[in-house]
Amino acid sequence: LNAEIICVGTELLLGQIVDTNSTKLSQYLASLGVNVFHKSTVGDNLQRIVESLRLAASRADLVIACGGLGPTQDDLTKEAISAAFDVPMVEDPESVEHIRSFFQRRRIPIAASNLKQALLFEGGNALRNDFGTAPGAVLEIDGRTIACLPGPPRELIPMVENQLLPYLRERHGLKRVLRSRVLRLAGMGESAAEERVKDLLGGSNPTVAPLLSGFEVTFRITGTGEDEGAVEAGILEAEKRLRQRLGKEIYGADDDTLESVVLGHLRDRGLSLVTAESCTGGLIAHRLTNVAGSSDTFLSSVVCYANAAKESLLGVRRVTLEGFGAVSWETAREMAEGAMRELGGDAAIAVTGIAGPGGGSDEKPVGLVYIATALPSALKVQEYHFAGTRLDVKQRTAQAALEQMRRAILHL
Ligand code: ATP
Ligand code: MG
Repeated sequence: LNAEIICVGTELLLGQIVDTNSTKLSQYLASLGVNVFHKSTVGDNLQRIVESLRLAASRADLVIACGGLGPTQDDLTKEAISAAFDVPMVEDPESVEHIRSFFQRRRIPIAASNLKQALLFEGGNALRNDFGTAPGAVLEIDGRTIACLPGPPRELIPMVENQLLPYLRERHGLKRVLRSRVLRLAGMGESAAEERVKDLLGGSNPTVAPLLSGFEVTFRITGTGEDEGAVEAGILEAEKRLRQRLGKEIYGADDDTLESVVLGHLRDRGLSLVTAESCTGGLIAHRLTNVAGSSDTFLSSVVCYANAAKESLLGVRRVTLEGFGAVSWETAREMAEGAMRELGGDAAIAVTGIAGPGGGSDEKPVGLVYIATALPSALKVQEYHFAGTRLDVKQRTAQAALEQMRRAILHL
């Protein structure tokens, strides 16, 4: 089966948004063993969308258009499909109902243009939108499958996973499965990690590929085949070998985040956590509170940016601040101890550093950060030197602080 993807949207052509939808779709299609031979992007122009659709249908068995399903004037994808393949549009009662109740739940009055979204193709199927109003649609014409999907990724992705892929599997008898597993490391650089597992990389099925994503290193194991059990067994075997080499350097897998894992370790041990943040300005607390249910373990945070705040909120001593400086081993330690005392946590993370671009000196350059992690019977303060912009330094600090805490808990 050959497929072609068409992204619709002038915003894409102007470079105002980045096309992530077609990347995602390509991955899904590859997982089914469907070849994608062409991809294109077209603006919000009826005639040009029609031309793109006709060209795609002339050379592919499956054409997927994404974007332009909304209620406004410039949303033209369905009109274009109707014109390109000469299929009439009819109102889909279920979609009308879905749109009405969507607006009702949010207490927003419904506009006539919103009901335009319930117009679908005669003889086609609606793809329900669980995260928005515009339904997608799929249609069979002359042995070709034509689908259209909403532009916003948080609507498109679940629609593809829950509805389009099952439809394609069924309709075209596709049996191939693709499974992958991602192992995550936060405390090791890419080259050091690769060095340890060099001989396990590559491979053909499953493949093992390293990837630097954000501030962490990941290894993605991907297997494919028609026998799901055999695919999973192959992945498990590869995972076992990677774990033998990397051990506790691996903090988690798949959807785990460093913050969710740290909170889990603390929760398992019955320990609560507080943070005292200077140069990260609350970023660590932000990450911790991104984890649903974190309030049972993460209690509170103090953003103590100015020296006076370090004194008044955490009881850091003036002699410490004056003698060693706000960015020092001693201040980080007193911040962690102060956070445990003042905020009442069993464990604490404290960070203080120079995020730049100004404020550095020869002795204390931009990127110098001290991180203290405190557990009931273990205090550790470590010095780091981070590179990059102000935001990079903040993000690297948050990442390193969480990893330092994870290591402290596991005695690494
Ligand atoms: P809406 O009902 O929100 O108007 P729509 O189906 O009409 O949705 P568009 O108007 O084309 O879709 O795009 C809406 C938004 O979806 C864009 O502003 C953009 O944020 C996102 N989007 C659209 N196409 C893509 C794409 N190819 N990759 C990533 N995001 C996209
Ligand atoms: Mg739109």
